[in-house]
Amino acid sequence: MSKKVIAILRGDYIGPEIMEAGLKVLDAASKDSSFQYETIDYPFGGAAIDQYSEPLPQQTIAGCKKTDAILLSAIGGPKWDTAKKRPEKGLLEIRNALGLFSNIRPTKVDPNLSHFSPVKQEILNETDFVIVRELTSGIYFGTPREQNEEKALDTTTYTAQEVKRILKIGFEMSMHRRKHVTIVDKANVLATSKLWRQVTEEFKKSYPEVTVDYSYVDAAAMKIITQPTAFDVIITANLFGDILSDEASVLTGSLGTIPSMSAGTDGPNLYEPIHGSAPDIAGKGIADPISMIQSIEMMLRESFNETLLADKIAAAVQKTIEDKIITPDLGGTATTQEVTANIVKNLKG
Ligand code: ATP
Ligand code: MG
Repeated sequence: MSKKVIAILRGDYIGPEIMEAGLKVLDAASKDSSFQYETIDYPFGGAAIDQYSEPLPQQTIAGCKKTDAILLSAIGGPKWDTAKKRPEKGLLEIRNALGLFSNIRPTKVDPNLSHFSPVKQEILNETDFVIVRELTSGIYFGTPREQNEEKALDTTTYTAQEVKRILKIGFEMSMHRRKHVTIVDKANVLATSKLWRQVTEEFKKSYPEVTVDYSYVDAAAMKIITQPTAFDVIITANLFGDILSDEASVLTGSLGTIPSMSAGTDGPNLYEPIHGSAPDIAGKGIADPISMIQSIEMMLRESFNETLLADKIAAAVQKTIEDKIITPDLGGTATTQEVTANIVKNLKG
């Protein structure tokens, strides 16, 4: 098998701390396997502003395009609050440059962390869904956008093409899962939602094994809390996905453990923790590395089809949590390094 190339964007504040932890785990897990890879570091975010006055330098775009996957750690923070160009601008730019029009967040809770969740353990144990959010269109990008003292205006636009390509990502994902897609929309009111349904009705004919249902976003928002087991793959527009994925993260109870993936049609996917750069705990050695480690696990599954390797990492993480070798955000007293070393130890069996 050819060597895979992974771009590393180390991030700011706790970013580099958890990236280092993640790469140690990847190194240990892949040691005795056929998975071969090399990593290349590129400047990005606040660190890139310091060095190149740009959150996303050209060399980073050009380099990332040539890789097989991108690992990104959290960026930004107070140091760049007054910068001409904010680190977060780099995120929008990299999504555009690489055509990453979808964002996927899993919701699955480790039974040993269920006490952090507002939902009952029995329900949580059966909860396992992903939200596939459209990322580069819809109301956040629509024009015209206008505002004066008396009136303001935002515009939501979707083309059939944009809907089809996000459906493709979600339906493909459902094929490796329970083959159940829920389209979340507001089709009783919005024209764009009606188009989503029309396109879905046609599109689903190519996936006869997949069960498709529709849910209005207000009903879905309740169901995520009251009946999260009803979902397998949720596919939804940018605004709805933004809100629902934050809501869903509350089910898991901890920001410090959740990964995400952004994908396009071709080219590398980007994997990153959902949390920010946590300036309040940077440099203290107590950042929870699990979000980054699970981002790597997701990369192995989705970009490299390395299911066994991903399962191995998942089991090692689960054992570490079970043994309560956990950082303060999860109620433990372990350091980032201790958690990482324990996961590496568990990998060795
Ligand atoms: P952003 O605007 O960048 O998303 P935010 O304001 O949402 O940032 P985060 O950086 O995500 O904030 O952090 C929110 C809280 O969660 C902070 O108190 C932070 O310390 C904590 N936190 C986030 N990630 C982790 C982690 N990996 N380990 C431990 N604590 C974390
Ligand atoms: Mg945030």
